[in-house]
Amino acid sequence: MTGLFGRAADWLEFGRPGEGEDFCVHHGLACRMGAEPLAEIYVMVVEAQRQLGQDVPPLDEHRAATFEERRQYEAEFAEALAEAEARNAASEADLEAGATWT
Ligand SMILES: [Zn+2]
Repeated sequence: MTGLFGRAADWLEFGRPGEGEDFCVHHGLACRMGAEPLAEIYVMVVEAQRQLGQDVPPLDEHRAATFEERRQYEAEFAEALAEAEARNAASEADLEAGATWT
């Protein structure tokens, strides 16, 4: 991933919930359960996804994830992270293969 979505992915990784830490079912740790405003980059990504016709979380509702929702979130997060890492590895391999001038 590159550009806006790449930065958002970095931010999402930085905000990953820890063991036993409460998080919002809509925004993960981004809103601190509504105690902090959502970061501008987060809102930008949500608005971009909305314009692409994707399902997006509400920006003004917050609810703690249930145990089952947490399990699903962690499984989806691990899957997305693995996919991003695979893409990064492929991109790095492409760059190294193309760097014949070094
Ligand atoms: Zn929230």
